[in-house]
Amino acid sequence: MKNIMFIAPPAAGKGTQAEIIEAKYNIPHISTGDILRDIAEEHSELGEYVSEVLSSGGLVKDEITDQIIEQRLRKADCKNGFIIDGFPRNIDQAIRYDQILKRLNYSVGVVILINVDKKTLEKRVIGRRVCEDCDAVYNINTEENAPLQDSICDICGGKLYQRNDDNLEAFENRYNLYLEKIVPIIEHYREQGVLYEIDGNKPKDEITSQIEEIIRR
Ligand code: AMP
Repeated sequence: MKNIMFIAPPAAGKGTQAEIIEAKYNIPHISTGDILRDIAEEHSELGEYVSEVLSSGGLVKDEITDQIIEQRLRKADCKNGFIIDGFPRNIDQAIRYDQILKRLNYSVGVVILINVDKKTLEKRVIGRRVCEDCDAVYNINTEENAPLQDSICDICGGKLYQRNDDNLEAFENRYNLYLEKIVPIIEHYREQGVLYEIDGNKPKDEITSQIEEIIRR
């Protein structure tokens, strides 16, 4: 199985697609955002720092995210492929990620860029709900991705919550940061010949089909 990396603006649905691919191909979904949200819950200096950065919509220091990624990729369940979501967020992270992969004898695999227009993202960000137990992602503003019961996870019955960076103000920061940092990352992977672009404005199933077609190539 190929390793997969998703690159997309905030609330583009990359977490949702990563979960679908994780379940279908039985490879781990590694989301730096999910890992950082868990750290933000810890009562420690690091937890407080991460929590503050997350609610502002800014980026956590590279040394923290680099360490998170390397430690996670060293686990045995990554041997048959993995999905990276939310990393790299700047060109320095991308360059160091190449070095991490080399150390671990992994290849980058395919890098899938999901393009979505800003108006659609704003609508999705307001409606996104996440399960506090299993991290499943729903959207109350879309018919296809709404939970069956309000505020309850379809998968595990956990309580759904709204991320505290899912408001229009933090979204604006995250989106601008994405635009500012993304171009060199895209070029980096285009040069390596591993970049694929898909249209993320389409319905969920169509996006999944586009992703699977890229994985199968
Ligand atoms: P996400 O769930 O990918 O939208 O990430 C949520 C938040 O976690 C981001 O807005 C950042 O504050 C932080 N974050 C996630 N990944 C990274 C990363 N690779 N580098 C720095 N901060 C990150």
